[in-house]
Amino acid sequence: MLKSEYAIETSNLTKTFAGFTAVDNVSLQVERGTIHALIGPNGAGKSTMFNLITKFLEPTAGKILLNGEDVTAAKPAAIARKGAVRSFQISSVFPHLSLLDNIRVSLQQRMNNSFNFWTSDRRLDTLNEDARRILAEVGLDDSEDILATELPYGRKRLLELATTLALEPKVMLLDEPMAGMGTGDVKRVADIIRRVAKNRTVLMVEHNLNVVAELSDRISVLQAGAILAEGTYDEVSKNPDVRSAYMGE
Ligand code: ADP
Ligand code: MG
Repeated sequence: MLKSEYAIETSNLTKTFAGFTAVDNVSLQVERGTIHALIGPNGAGKSTMFNLITKFLEPTAGKILLNGEDVTAAKPAAIARKGAVRSFQISSVFPHLSLLDNIRVSLQQRMNNSFNFWTSDRRLDTLNEDARRILAEVGLDDSEDILATELPYGRKRLLELATTLALEPKVMLLDEPMAGMGTGDVKRVADIIRRVAKNRTVLMVEHNLNVVAELSDRISVLQAGAILAEGTYDEVSKNPDVRSAYMGE
């Protein structure tokens, strides 16, 4: 039995760096099975929140719960084992491996918790079917033999997303998944997020407000480390504090 309707919950989460408070008493609730966007100007503390939730940073104060379980003292690897995976972090792309091999590395990571370069080819072959399915999910199945380094930027980000999917996260934390992408890839990533979110929880930081409006069930606006507003896109975008602080009005 899951103990909470929230996949992620922080309570009074605070992080100070040498006297500077980057995250200030943030109580955030991300309902299971939803797409939740964290938005706010540069320097608001969004990435720091992700680093705290995945325990890549130690909180100065406050609590972090995953599915109702207090994980404030957990190690990053334990957070990943509990299914909360941040994209572009654990599974960075190996530039000189093919796309297929990159996904197989992630699949192995998921199964063994470690990657073994010496596994026999035959055992690795058993991963091919899964690896091809995941490449197809992000539309890279036409390039499985290409080295990752040869991919243009947008497609490299798609590969990063695919290596994250290979870890079968239950909670995906996506930090600006569409940054620097052209409109075609933005649309593709939006489709992927919508699809993967069907049986997962997604917490995403994204600057493209059209994408945020289209994808998010709920939005939290962070400003100077604190929550400024929360709600649906309509609610948040009508909030006068948000309009002046975030949208420059
Ligand atoms: P965002 O992702 O919303 O743009 P960040 O979470 O990256 O913001 O940063 C929030 C604030 O914390 C910024 O002022 C940033 O300079 C500061 N900060 C982030 N990480 C560190 C760090 N490791 N050491 C000192 N200051 C940091
Ligand atoms: Mg950031």
